Amino acid sequence: MKAKQADPIAERVSRAETYLARFRSETLGHWIDGQSIAGQGETFENHSPIDGASLGRVASATEAEVATACEAAADAFQTWRKVSGTERRRILHRVADLIVARADEIATLECVDTGQAWRFMSKAALRGAENYRFFADRAPDAANGLSLPTESHLNYTLRQPLGPVGVITPWNTPFMLSTWKMAPALAAGCTVVHKPAEWSPLTARLLTEIMDEAGVPAGVVNLVNGIGETTGKALTEHPAIRAVAFIGESRTGGLVMAQGAPTLKRVHLELGGKNPVIVFDDADLDAALDAVVFMIYSLNGERCTSSSRLLVQRSIHDEFVAKLAERVKRLKVGHPLDPDTEVGPLVHARHFEKVMSYMSIAREDGATIAVGGSQAQAEGLSANGHYVTPTLFTGARRDMRIAREEIFGPVLTAIAFDDEAEAVDIANDVSYGLAGYLWTGDVGRANRVALALEAGMIWVNSENVRHLPTPFGGMKASGIGRDGGDYSFDFYMDTKNVALSLGGHRAPRMGI
Ligand code: NAD
Repeated sequence: MKAKQADPIAERVSRAETYLARFRSETLGHWIDGQSIAGQGETFENHSPIDGASLGRVASATEAEVATACEAAADAFQTWRKVSGTERRRILHRVADLIVARADEIATLECVDTGQAWRFMSKAALRGAENYRFFADRAPDAANGLSLPTESHLNYTLRQPLGPVGVITPWNTPFMLSTWKMAPALAAGCTVVHKPAEWSPLTARLLTEIMDEAGVPAGVVNLVNGIGETTGKALTEHPAIRAVAFIGESRTGGLVMAQGAPTLKRVHLELGGKNPVIVFDDADLDAALDAVVFMIYSLNGERCTSSSRLLVQRSIHDEFVAKLAERVKRLKVGHPLDPDTEVGPLVHARHFEKVMSYMSIAREDGATIAVGGSQAQAEGLSANGHYVTPTLFTGARRDMRIAREEIFGPVLTAIAFDDEAEAVDIANDVSYGLAGYLWTGDVGRANRVALALEAGMIWVNSENVRHLPTPFGGMKASGIGRDGGDYSFDFYMDTKNVALSLGGHRAPRMGI
């Protein structure tokens, strides 16, 4: 008799329940100076995107609790800054080892907390470990600067850790994004107060526990949960915090700058995008189609670098869009823990409503909803889940809201263009400038368009493939500053110049 096949979803759901039990049984608090703190502030409910069920309650850190965390980070900085780069490297590799060891728990909780599909989150958890390894290996050399000799002086530069920094993260791929900020901060010798997004607080706690277990000393990493407008604001205003590394919406980025201004905080802002993918008629159209589908419908379209605007040359427009529509119709919407799921539920009821509001906006603006446009319903999907059918808008113009605003869901807006100049013009005609993708078989055009696009990152004949030493960040309303490789250390460190007379140098004489 054939053995009964195990149901992979049921098994994962049951594992998720085991991992969730601790969050359901006790209010999730904070982690300050190496201690788990229950928190005295108000609490709020964390809801599942899958069916709206409670995933537990979360405490919102008060201003006083945020201050305690910032002071702990300031105290710990005095010792952590002196820990050698090689020792920091050892500890951060240990963090990476423990992330790998708990990757199943991290990915499972990330799926149920955010609605992101397992096929992507299982990789994102491991990418978190890679982030630690990458910056761990650079820790011993982070202080290195330049030698700039003159005839009379030897000038040399070096970098020193900035101090305690605030890290504020969003709810899309929250675990990976937290590691992307904290790994370089710790490698540089900074201490951290982290405030994760209120809609996805679970994996930040795991990361804090992992860092504690790996030997990151008490106070070096502190975690405060809570609401952006209160807990987050208090963190950006605290005088002990020297810099804020922020990932989130452009509007919030502006608030973070303003709140940090009186205490002269350095800010690094990774913000929203309305990224174009431009497909010219001389491109490898099959490869382009794969990338176009992947870069908007993976990660539920809740991705800052998603290519949410398809600019397609008019000569191939109808054929390309017809093939695209067929692919979009076949995308598998499902439970995030189902390994076959390609698009999961959106993170939160409020975000679901925002994304759904663009369906009527598209209609009012006169665009065509070629595919999707409604709440996704299928057997096994809870009506209380935030499932959206993957959506394709066609016949759009650049002045429509669906072509200008970040929708941040599995929703693509297709616009036709006639020639290269018009493609560039439409691509740049938005307030954002994070990423740009272009598909062409003409090398000269590839370079011309890459130079002309107003975006911090351009991929030619490729989807978003990251190489960690390269700069990551946006222009215009998409951000200020760059992450990756040495760019991260420039943010988390102060550069100091030392000028040394080679002997015999005399200052101009006065008052003789
Ligand atoms: P958000 O701006 O609403 O919130 C981000 C974080 O800021 C949360 O932790 C929130 O609590 C906190 N916050 C809110 N108000 C605050 C305030 N006044 N002071 C301090 N903190 C405050 O963003 P979101 O909806 O969580 O995330 C989605 C956005 O993030 C999208 O716009 C997306 O494009 C962007 N994003 C950008 C990148 C990038 O690298 N450029 C990466 C991921 C996400």
